[in-house]
Amino acid sequence: MEIDIICVLYCSNVEDDRHLFFSCPYSQSIWRGVLAILGLSRGVQIQWCTSKFSGKSPDAILKKLAFNSYIYHIWAERNMRCFTEKRNSTDSVLHQIIEVVRIKFLAQNIKVPDKDRNRSLFNKWSINVNFTLPRTIQYVWNKPLSDEFMINTAGSLSQSGAGYSDILRDHIGDAIAAVSGTSRPLSITIHELQGIEAGLLLASEYSISCICIASDSKVAVSYFSSKNKEVPWRATRVWKRIQRLTKRFEICNIVHIYRETNRAADYLAKLRHTTEFLVFTPCSFAQDLKDIVFEDKMGKLYFHF
Ligand SMILES: [Zn+2]
Repeated sequence: MEIDIICVLYCSNVEDDRHLFFSCPYSQSIWRGVLAILGLSRGVQIQWCTSKFSGKSPDAILKKLAFNSYIYHIWAERNMRCFTEKRNSTDSVLHQIIEVVRIKFLAQNIKVPDKDRNRSLFNKWSINVNFTLPRTIQYVWNKPLSDEFMINTAGSLSQSGAGYSDILRDHIGDAIAAVSGTSRPLSITIHELQGIEAGLLLASEYSISCICIASDSKVAVSYFSSKNKEVPWRATRVWKRIQRLTKRFEICNIVHIYRETNRAADYLAKLRHTTEFLVFTPCSFAQDLKDIVFEDKMGKLYFHF
């Protein structure tokens, strides 16, 4: 015979895990307090949090601690009421949750980047953290070695369509040619790979034998650096074509670069030409692109935060 257990948190509903943590008015009142102090909307559901509270950033750690503390304290309150005459108000439980989160967060000695968002969040929790200034890295566009050519490549995918682009430059930084094309929207990784393929074809057309390909896509670069990593099945064809093309070159290196130094290729990728593979030379570059190429050549500093 099944016996329904009535919720002990001041309500007359049947108690199960779902009711206890998700729908009991007592728990919900505390949960709303936790959300408010986390700066999250009242509509955020606990189920949503279990799948979204991930990562290692200070605010992600704080959210996970808050969530765990909430679950622990609701369960503890429920047990206390089952076995003793004691009971806490929702305000009291919320206060306990906050205290535990504060102590646990401070014990981890986590460095928190000094951003307005973080200051506001940790102020709400009254957690005196040591804010650190965000690290800024300076970069210039990397010139290739004297006997190499550099291909900067990019893929793009947005609501307005998909495309890819490349710009080929010599070791001084002067542009030789550029290519830009459109594609049926697929996935950003595929468009990044299409960009690499187009760059290899462009270098082939100019009978270049030593190239360095620079991409800001860590995923695309990882396929070259890790032999065990498989490309998605939809990218298999373009990947096989790339592998065949790379054999045409004496030297063919691929490197990852920060997006800030990939401005020329990024600019081209957003042009959305109507043809699939359009090659053009520096004399037909738009002034904006000429300016980017010139600034890269002169060693303009780019900042990566
Ligand atoms: Zn209840």
